[in-house]
Amino acid sequence: MKTRIVLLGPPASGKGMQAEFLKNRYGIASVSPGAMLREEMRLGTPLGVEADRMTRDGSMVPDAMVIQLVGNWLSTHHDGFVFDGFPRTVGQADALEQMLAEWRAPLDAVLFFEITTETAFERVLNRLTCSRCGRSFATGLHLAAGQTRCPECGGALIRRSDDTPEALEHRIAEYSEKTKPLVEYYKKRGLLWNVKAAGTPAEVSAEITALLEEAS
Ligand SMILES: [Zn+2]
Repeated sequence: MKTRIVLLGPPASGKGMQAEFLKNRYGIASVSPGAMLREEMRLGTPLGVEADRMTRDGSMVPDAMVIQLVGNWLSTHHDGFVFDGFPRTVGQADALEQMLAEWRAPLDAVLFFEITTETAFERVLNRLTCSRCGRSFATGLHLAAGQTRCPECGGALIRRSDDTPEALEHRIAEYSEKTKPLVEYYKKRGLLWNVKAAGTPAEVSAEITALLEEAS
C-alpha cells in the first residue's frame, strides 16, 4: 500500500475531494499549505502572525515559509500523508525530496489529475462553496438543481468571489508556468501515475484505490 502521496493537477481537478476520501478510507492525514497557514494564524504562532501580515498586504507567502511549515508538519507525519496543493514549484519539490530523505521516508506516488481546460472552466463556473465548512460542490454532479444548503453540514452555499473566468484563467496560467513542470519531474523519478480526473468522484476514488493498493 502506498501511503506517502502527492496529489498534482490543475485547478478544479478534484484533488481536495479525493484527499478527503483518502483520509476517510485509509486514515492518511491530508494537508494543504493553505490549511496549515490558517491553523498557524488561528494559533497565533510567530509564523502564523507573519503569514497573516503578508496575506493582508496581498503578498504571496514565500516558498521558504511554506517549506518550513511543511517541514514542521512532516516531523510527525512522514509515515503517511497526502499533500494537496504542495509542492507547487520545482523548488518546493526539491525541498520536499530533501526533507523526506532525512526521514528516510521517500514518496510512494504522485497522482496526476488530468482534466481539460474546458472541464476546469465548466466545473468552476458551476461550483458552489459552503460558507461554514469550506467544501465545494458542483451543481449537477454533487448537488441537485436549486440546492442552497451544504449536503455535509447544512451551511449556506455561496459562490466564491474568485470563481470567475478571469480568476480561473490566471490560476491556470500560474499552474502551467510553475506547477506543470512537476509532471516531468516526477515522471523521471518513476513516481507519476495518471488519474482520469474528469470522471465522477466515485469513479476517480475507485481508480485511485486500485493504484495505491496495487503491489509495486
Ligand atoms: Zn458545509
